[in-house]
Amino acid sequence: AIPVTELIWHNGKMIKWDDAKIHVLSHVVNYGSSLFEGIRCYETKSGPAIFRLKEHMQRLLNSSKIYRIDVPFSVDELCNAAVELVGANKVSPCYIRPIVLRGYGELGVNPIGCPTEVYMANYAWGKYLGHGGPDDGVDVCVSSWTRFAPNTLPALAKAGANYMNSQLIKMEAILNGYSEGIALDANGYVSEGSGENLFIVRDGKIITPPLGNSVLPGITRDSVIQIADSLGIEVKEQIIPREMLYVADEVFFTGTAAEVTPIASVDKIQVGTGKAGAITKTIRKEFFALIHGEVEDRFGWLTPVKQP
Ligand code: PMP
Repeated sequence: AIPVTELIWHNGKMIKWDDAKIHVLSHVVNYGSSLFEGIRCYETKSGPAIFRLKEHMQRLLNSSKIYRIDVPFSVDELCNAAVELVGANKVSPCYIRPIVLRGYGELGVNPIGCPTEVYMANYAWGKYLGHGGPDDGVDVCVSSWTRFAPNTLPALAKAGANYMNSQLIKMEAILNGYSEGIALDANGYVSEGSGENLFIVRDGKIITPPLGNSVLPGITRDSVIQIADSLGIEVKEQIIPREMLYVADEVFFTGTAAEVTPIASVDKIQVGTGKAGAITKTIRKEFFALIHGEVEDRFGWLTPVKQP
């Protein structure tokens, strides 16, 4: 169950959690017409701080633009709303979920004329993948489901409808005893998990699929690339054939939910030692130090929240 908070932001105003309702004949309910974000707010020694808030809100506006939705709020206004919401609900650490949706007005497929609604909620939230120790990886499979082909559902948009594909990947994996599935793209190359980007390590270098392989432009993906660069670890965006997962020295997922999660096995083939590898550990350590404000915020990734 979702841990309830008091308030939800709606089109510029705070409303009660229980009042954040939409009609069953809303466009979004019938056709999946929503764009959304998932953002984390962490505890730091100087109070709660939201991770890469601006980049998330920019991606929300980009996702909306792809679908011809003109969101009546700027990145800054959305960022301010998030800070206000987290402060008002007084839950930290937490997850922040902004949603742009096509509302109630027309029920034809043509959405022109449907009102746009913008909501933002937040609630307490912890670890997503894996329940063992920090160096225990997760066991994953390659999904029998493929990610959407180019020029079908745009992968650069974080749209609700995309997650019908993610649900198929996730359910198949869980029902077969795995924590997560890795989807291949329409050409059979490695794409991403149902809700995570994927990285492999070979011979001391990090490789991740380029954005053309039907991957979401993950904010954590970008963070890991910047962290690796700053630590002098080489990162390449390069097409990854499926079998490279089996011979990689290390494989890990990244995502707002997954953070940096090592992968222990793929299709029951052990990755490296079956525990987090050296480069995964180095990246993860720096990532956690940055998000918790334990090292200087040299990339400017944290937005502090003053809680009354
Ligand atoms: N791919 C998919 C399909 C996702 O849902 C997510 C989570 N938003 C990611 C990758 C990782 O993106 P981010 O690091 O921005 O959370």
